[in-house]
Amino acid sequence: MGGRYQVYCEGSILEASLRGRLKQSTASRVLVGDAVTVQVHDDRSATIETVEPRRSVLKRRSPGKSTGTRPVAANVDQIVVVGAARRPDWDPHLIDRFTAVAEVNGLPSVVVINKCDLTDDCQQHLEPYRAAGYPVVSTSVPNHEGLDGLRDHLEGRISLFTGPTGVGKSSLLNALQPGLRLRTGDVSRKSSTGRHTTVAAEMHPFGERGFVVDTPGLRDIGLWGLDPAEVEAAFPEIRRHGAGCRFDNCRHGEEPECAVIAAVANGEIRESRLTSYRRLLEESQRAARPWA
Ligand code: GDP
Ligand code: ZN
Repeated sequence: MGGRYQVYCEGSILEASLRGRLKQSTASRVLVGDAVTVQVHDDRSATIETVEPRRSVLKRRSPGKSTGTRPVAANVDQIVVVGAARRPDWDPHLIDRFTAVAEVNGLPSVVVINKCDLTDDCQQHLEPYRAAGYPVVSTSVPNHEGLDGLRDHLEGRISLFTGPTGVGKSSLLNALQPGLRLRTGDVSRKSSTGRHTTVAAEMHPFGERGFVVDTPGLRDIGLWGLDPAEVEAAFPEIRRHGAGCRFDNCRHGEEPECAVIAAVANGEIRESRLTSYRRLLEESQRAARPWA
């Protein structure tokens, strides 16, 4: 990377380069969302001096690879998973991949179903996620439906918008904040030594204190790989009920006295979620044992 960063601070953008010693360590590689300290020099050039401790790190695991992750974004507070009711059709298993990757990264998700002007089944599609404990929002851009509710979730937080292509992520963002352009971070200089600022590759200020990360490279997080050990933790309601299974290592398949299967039977866990769990588990095991 050429090492030019756009740093947001109080409403303006500063172009900054990395200070030499930061370049040398990959551990301190600056990520989108990082808060940094900037020094502004006499010739008005700026250098990033330090990277603040991160409150979250989103890590990418390549599909089919069981080992190795790469940090791709810092300080994201939540993942906004967007699907469409139609065009393209709502695909619960694809949505579950996005929420799963959010979970293994320790990040909360908001599940959004857009294009609700095209069908009546939006609430029905959202129901498994509501049951799992996720905040859910149904929206329609042309009908201005659900936009205020979604805006409330975004205020004051760093949100990553993600979901399949064509579901209306850009349309939603533009409707929520007219004038939002694919702009990167800004910076304001408090003093020539800089202050608590945020580095942003493709991150847009949103509302008063929020940011939206809408990076093409992060729109596909649902296709990232998962480690088998991570898969149970990736479904919060399965994790919760799974504590009651007879066997500690229950995979919620054929085992006797499985509390998860009991919870599906009595309607506390939706079948589509258990199906997604099993698919992801199988897939991650195959990736972990490519010879099997
Ligand atoms: P993205 O790939 O997720 O960013 O999707 P876009 O924002 O580019 O939208 C894809 C297409 O869906 C465009 O033709 C939009 O006009 C259309 N679209 C977006 N939101 C809605 C909606 O709520 N209802 C309908 N009917 N169409 C929408
Ligand atoms: Zn079980």
